[in-house]
Amino acid sequence: MSFSLTSKADATNPSSAEGQAFLDEWDRQYTWHPFAQTSEMKHFPPLRITGGDGCWLHDADGNRYLDGYASTWTNVHGHGVPELRRAIIDQLDQIAHSTYLGLSHEPGTLLAKRLVDASPADLQRVFFSDNGSTSVEVALKMSLRYWQLKGKSERTTIVAMEGAYHGDTLGTMSLGADGPFTAPWRKWAFPVRRFKAPECHELAGETFISDGSESIDHLSQILSEENGGTAAVILEPSVQGASGMRQQPSDFLSKVKDLCLMHEAHLILDEVFVAFGRLGSIFVSEAQDVCPDFLCLAKGLSGGYIPLAATLATEEVFDAFTGPFHEHKTFYHGHTYTANPLAASVSLKSLDLLQDMICSSTLAKTISSFGSQVKDTFCGHPRIREVRQRGLAACLDLCPGKDAAFDPQRRFALEVCKEARARGLLLRPLGNSLPLVPPIAIDEKEISFLCSTALNSINAVPL
Ligand code: PMP
Repeated sequence: MSFSLTSKADATNPSSAEGQAFLDEWDRQYTWHPFAQTSEMKHFPPLRITGGDGCWLHDADGNRYLDGYASTWTNVHGHGVPELRRAIIDQLDQIAHSTYLGLSHEPGTLLAKRLVDASPADLQRVFFSDNGSTSVEVALKMSLRYWQLKGKSERTTIVAMEGAYHGDTLGTMSLGADGPFTAPWRKWAFPVRRFKAPECHELAGETFISDGSESIDHLSQILSEENGGTAAVILEPSVQGASGMRQQPSDFLSKVKDLCLMHEAHLILDEVFVAFGRLGSIFVSEAQDVCPDFLCLAKGLSGGYIPLAATLATEEVFDAFTGPFHEHKTFYHGHTYTANPLAASVSLKSLDLLQDMICSSTLAKTISSFGSQVKDTFCGHPRIREVRQRGLAACLDLCPGKDAAFDPQRRFALEVCKEARARGLLLRPLGNSLPLVPPIAIDEKEISFLCSTALNSINAVPL
């Protein structure tokens, strides 16, 4: 296919077949998609999404697909929700963006207040950014700088949990577990000490989680060895998403907090994935009555509509950064689109709707239905080694037979995703595991479709 400037008109005319072909070709030629192996995309090209309603996405050929990974774990109420659309349009009628550097606006202020009200009591300050990685970077920088400002520059050690994933920037990759996502850049990473994660695996159809004592003992040992040198301990509370929905026992978080208090280290909670209804509450920390020093939020914050992130901090941390300008206590950090008013407006409306889902027990019922359907459909299946589920998050570890391993060249989970797409379900593999992470607003019938279609897709791939 050859290109000319005049063909642009055709390419942007959705009713023109030639235009559609141009868009596909230009996507192949000019776009670099994230987390995508180009060689595989030839055989499994990205769908061109043209619309969405509820938990469903529409492609340019008029097909409908259930959004089985909630548009990368962000979507809360579904697509095209009238109230969310209205919130954005109303704000757009006022202003689309003005900087938060030296200026303020109503949706930013209201959202800050709303997040403070909904989060554990000591979190009093909201620092906005625009994605999960930056929300964690901000917490790290605040923690390290806080200790310098307090005259305790020896507190430099960061402690993360085994299997951690906190983002893709260099700082957050330093926290991330070893693996192909992080190994090539290890040389440039800062050192991190890592404590054992609680054991979590399936046992006869139930998710078995150890009591976490080994993990707590290990963390305690690290903090003692560091002997006052720890700046912060960071973890995803309750469920580690990207490590395959690995879970912690219910009292684990409070034990980690106690250790942090004992050793005067900060606790940073990364609730980028687990907040905003994913595990049944707005915040895991609030539900478990554990107050961190920093709380990192993104993904579902805006309902999955517009990029927005926030790092909540205590007043004590905030105060440490206050002083005459020449002392340079200022927190020198800020992203250009920080606190974007459209994103803040849609977040406020999304929080209203989520609150209704929680108060009416709709969310609790959805989670219960999801849990039982996942268990009934997948546990004991010969091609699934393990099923782990909590809240609206499940992970199926695929296998070619109970004690067999896949040929490492084989991309079985990707092949399952291809089958699923052909059946109207969108999923994304995680190695040879298959996460099921639907929008929070998914209904019972859609859960059935998700489970039965994923099952048929697993069965359809030849071993
Ligand atoms: N923390 C957690 C727990 C995440 O799951 C993710 C993204 N999956 C991130 C941080 C990074 O978020 P983002 O991709 O928005 O940078």
